[in-house]
Amino acid sequence: MNQPNATERPDPERELTAGLFLGSGTTQAYRTAMEQAHKAVTDVYLERATPYSGRSPEELEARFEESEMLPEEGQGLTATIETVAQTVVGHSVGTSHPACVAHLQCPPMIPALAAEALISATNQSLDSWDQAPAATALETRLIEELAAVFGYDGGADGVVTSGGTQSNFMGLLLARNWVLDERFDHDAQADGLPPAADSLRVLCSADAHFTARQAAAQLGLGESAIVSIPTDEQHRLSVDALDSTLAELADSDRQPFALIGTAGTTDFGSIDPLEQLGDRAREHGLWFHVDAAYGGALALSDRHREKLRGIETADSIAVDFHKLFYQPLSCGAFLLRDGDRYRYIDRNAAYLNPADAESGVVNLVSKSVQTSRRFDALKPYVAFQTLGRDGFGELIEYTLDLAAAVADRIRDAPAFELKHEPTLNAVVFRYRPPTGPSQRGDEINERIRDRLREEGTAMVARTSVDGETCLKFTLLNPRTTVADVEEILAAIERHGEALAPGGRTAKPTRGSNDR
Ligand SMILES: *Cc1c(COP(=O)(O)O)cnc(C)c1O
Repeated sequence: MNQPNATERPDPERELTAGLFLGSGTTQAYRTAMEQAHKAVTDVYLERATPYSGRSPEELEARFEESEMLPEEGQGLTATIETVAQTVVGHSVGTSHPACVAHLQCPPMIPALAAEALISATNQSLDSWDQAPAATALETRLIEELAAVFGYDGGADGVVTSGGTQSNFMGLLLARNWVLDERFDHDAQADGLPPAADSLRVLCSADAHFTARQAAAQLGLGESAIVSIPTDEQHRLSVDALDSTLAELADSDRQPFALIGTAGTTDFGSIDPLEQLGDRAREHGLWFHVDAAYGGALALSDRHREKLRGIETADSIAVDFHKLFYQPLSCGAFLLRDGDRYRYIDRNAAYLNPADAESGVVNLVSKSVQTSRRFDALKPYVAFQTLGRDGFGELIEYTLDLAAAVADRIRDAPAFELKHEPTLNAVVFRYRPPTGPSQRGDEINERIRDRLREEGTAMVARTSVDGETCLKFTLLNPRTTVADVEEILAAIERHGEALAPGGRTAKPTRGSNDR
């Protein structure tokens, strides 16, 4: 390779950089590249009639086995994108397809896709102001506004995160450092965990997200620090069970220090009684963290905001924009009711100029557990400006209405058993096979899901309820209609009958059926 002459002024036409970097004289190359990417999405991804191509893991693995990952010589962008369109985009899950109703992966909204292009083109990092001046100001304002949306007052603070995992981790990290400071006069940030930390316990419902357990492990408290509280028949944390657990713990050498409420459990979308949990947290001196990764979006709906009542009493909140706010991955937020409590994790790298704080310059690195950090705040900002709160509210309300209508269909159909009354837009149910051992029912439900994916007809999730395999729709897509879901239900029935032909026992009457 010839040694580039770095002393010469860059020439946009020179071979080394041609078509590779943004700058004057490269706009055509940029436009061509973006148009190609756009075309791969519109012509390959969106043109597919089904939400998945049906390729098996083996087929996909085989395809990439033959593919050279780091060729000696490049083949140029045009050929590369064409290959990627066929091998990757063409076999990606159609998150925007109306029959893609499996997980909490939302169809990303177009305003956010435009924002995403701006985020990567400007490539600013939010760790220090001098790397992201306007972005820092915008994120700071967005967090302020979001805090107000959840009923926090002026002292709140927070940061944009990679999602619920990170936000939940931050909540427990702050709670841990807070309790060690408050009760043990111990600086965990400086000195690690004291022996007394063995006694610390975190309370959350049995249906809380697994990242609570994960965070406890990562924070050195161990998974055994999680005390799991039973849920009621609607999969909400049972306050009676919480009370008896608190009484039990008071008589033991274990010390609860944090209570996690979930606003929208991943499986059922259930919302814990946040107001009562907030009361208990105050009475017992616990840090109250609300995991609103899924359900936080209800705050934008006039009809459903009420369901989050009590969230404003939380010490910290986790919200995901990449779920019910329709932003592409990744995008979440962590909110802290009393922003001064950031001092419990306050550390700054000298090169990021912590002294700037005195001159009024904010370096957001001190509010995050990340250093280099994307300007993901731009996505919800652009989306909020485009749609307004009303627009968002309507989208969310539509999907909740859709889930209720789908639940009605399932409740009334002899071939199905509805497992809960939906709170958000998740609907858990089971295909009722003809009589036989219930294990066989598990297998049939599992096979139905696999067959739908193999045909590409629909992407449906599977979950387990009281040891039984069930199917789950997560109806996030505002373009999905009741008719679309009826088609999926018909396909489920068709596969179910093919897998287990025969007559079915009468469906239990209402009341015994919907638990
Ligand atoms: C999705 C989810 C999480 C995890 O969030 P990520 O954004 O995937 O990191 C945590 N809690 C709940 C309730 C969730 O739905």
